[in-house]
Amino acid sequence: MEYKDDLWQELPEKVSPEKLPEGGGKTRLRQCFIPPCKHASPNKLHILEKTIKHEDLANIPVLIERSIYQIYCNACDHHFFLILERQFDKEMLAERNNSTEYLRGMNPVRVYAADEKNNILEEIGWFRDFD
Ligand SMILES: [Zn+2]
Repeated sequence: MEYKDDLWQELPEKVSPEKLPEGGGKTRLRQCFIPPCKHASPNKLHILEKTIKHEDLANIPVLIERSIYQIYCNACDHHFFLILERQFDKEMLAERNNSTEYLRGMNPVRVYAADEKNNILEEIGWFRDFD
């Protein structure tokens, strides 16, 4: 499978453990989040696929957008997912013709890792778009 490593440029290099990050993050994203491996050489970690999913539940006031990056670790030969979760206020979206672009940067972005069965491997941290 062909690597899509250009997509690393869409991701922050590091994220912060704080929900309202001040200053730079601490945790490097380009590492393996599979517990026994935890390999940290960036050149061992490759993006295979990116998908975006939206969750719009009637009883909650936010639209949840998940950018899901499938990562292959060349050190342990396993796959996992890096997931960036953004929330958008539905009323504000409606005022902006439902374009999420205008609302990026308003809320911190949650970043976590999940395995192929959708079990969370690690809550990695937070960042803010445009910081
Ligand atoms: Zn690994």
